[in-house]
Amino acid sequence: MTDSMSLVEIAREIRSQLPELLREQAEAVDQTLAKLLEQAEAGEDVDYEIRILLGKHQATDTWKRDRLQGISLDSLDSVDKGFNSLAGDIADTPNVAKYACPIEGCSSLFWFPIDVSDPIPVCETHNLEFKRVAASS
Ligand SMILES: [Zn+2]
Repeated sequence: MTDSMSLVEIAREIRSQLPELLREQAEAVDQTLAKLLEQAEAGEDVDYEIRILLGKHQATDTWKRDRLQGISLDSLDSVDKGFNSLAGDIADTPNVAKYACPIEGCSSLFWFPIDVSDPIPVCETHNLEFKRVAASS
């Protein structure tokens, strides 16, 4: 059994944050999330799709990551701390794994795995699996 927060719950929560996190891109992401949540309610497993969707934008990826990390410490206090550290989280971590579409100039955004078991996303434009790239500094 697991009583940690599921990606579906995170997806529900993040919808209210999207305008702030993504600004003009929020609506498109919100519409996709709404569809995925409908599927989830119908009993489909949409964790992977939610992960890919939120992973496409660094703001939502960081938010999701902080949320998951906060929960894994199983204390509400740590969730609050996670929220506060949103901005500097990735920049402050050296050697963070970073993935991108292998096609140079692709407009897909970088993706940052939460842990090594995360499935690598596929570029929707080129249908190619993302490749690990050196973290830029
Ligand atoms: Zn691509």
